[in-house]
Amino acid sequence: MLNPQIQAPSPSPAPLPGPWSAPRAEAASPAPLLRVENLTVRYGKRGRREAPAAARDVSFSVSRGETFGLVGESGSGKSSTALSVARLIEPEKGRIFLGDLEISALRGKALRAARPRFQMIFQDPASSLNPRERALAIVAEPMLLSRQYSKGEIGDRARALMTRVGLPVSSLSLFPFEFSGGQRQRLAIARALSTNPELLILDEPVSALDAAIQAQILNLLADLQESLGVTGLFISHDLAVIQRATRRVAVMRRGSLIELAPTPLLFEGPAHPYTWALLAASLPKGSRRDSLRKAFLPRAPHEGPATFGGCDYLECPLREEPLCLKAPPLARAREGHFARCHKAAEARDLGARALARNGEGPALASQVA
Ligand code: ADP
Ligand code: MG
Repeated sequence: MLNPQIQAPSPSPAPLPGPWSAPRAEAASPAPLLRVENLTVRYGKRGRREAPAAARDVSFSVSRGETFGLVGESGSGKSSTALSVARLIEPEKGRIFLGDLEISALRGKALRAARPRFQMIFQDPASSLNPRERALAIVAEPMLLSRQYSKGEIGDRARALMTRVGLPVSSLSLFPFEFSGGQRQRLAIARALSTNPELLILDEPVSALDAAIQAQILNLLADLQESLGVTGLFISHDLAVIQRATRRVAVMRRGSLIELAPTPLLFEGPAHPYTWALLAASLPKGSRRDSLRKAFLPRAPHEGPATFGGCDYLECPLREEPLCLKAPPLARAREGHFARCHKAAEARDLGARALARNGEGPALASQVA
């Protein structure tokens, strides 16, 4: 839907260029831009007891120019991880590096000086953009805070950025409410890009938009990341969006990272039973979904011992004791593909067999709704 007040140039959706196409050979991978090491986030105390960790011992790294996804159900700890990386909340533990710089150790002036290098885009631009500021002030703010641009440069850059994100330069004088939802997200993107960041942290950037607009914004982000070489940490609860927008992906469940793989491999055949269940839930109605759902149907949670240190996916249909009472390490399933599961090999077999019963290959790529 286009806001009639704005004559937007029709943004020609670029073909999806591909950080997510063929995974680059490991040897050619540049040094990581972002490294997250053993990140734990906890929000205060609940009564007298310590609240459970919102993110627990989360580690991953993202290569320069790569778009890395975090996927998981609501409440799995994706935003807590993103906000820690963006230095908007203080984690309880863990270290975060941007190149050689440990951004998790920065305070005060040093943190302000580093902020232009990483910018965040939120789900809902209606609440993340100041409703009382005009678009120009919104786009200019990160540049002003960085103190790295002259007044003239700020104006020039703001105009160029509007064009770059598919908004008319004249809309710099409008307020956020005068834009449509998709246009507001374009404005948020222009603002985030204004300081030439190396890292964009995108927390559900298209989840508030309807399907047609989602596709436009995903195209725009892909185009911008490709042409500007920006690295992305891309968060979504939606597997179809993750499949489209990322090159590698980590799955979160209850604060933990349970699986990590090149995106095409994850969609071809996960290694964690929980990821299979997620995938089954995201498939369109049909025999493939039915047979995967049946194979990976969570069962009534097993009555475990009171103090529990093992796998906490108690509903797992493949659970086996005493094996699963031991904490599963993030073990290699195949090249670049890791899962925190003692039964990963069986899960992959079970999934492949469930799909084969439908007389089709394992590729789920085009099947996600
Ligand atoms: P996601 O983004 O995957 O939905 P979140 O990181 O927002 O997950 O939430 C992880 C857990 O932390 C949830 O249990 C959530 O209720 C809790 N949580 C998130 N934000 C806060 C907060 N500001 N205060 C207390 N608990 C929070
Ligand atoms: Mg969230």
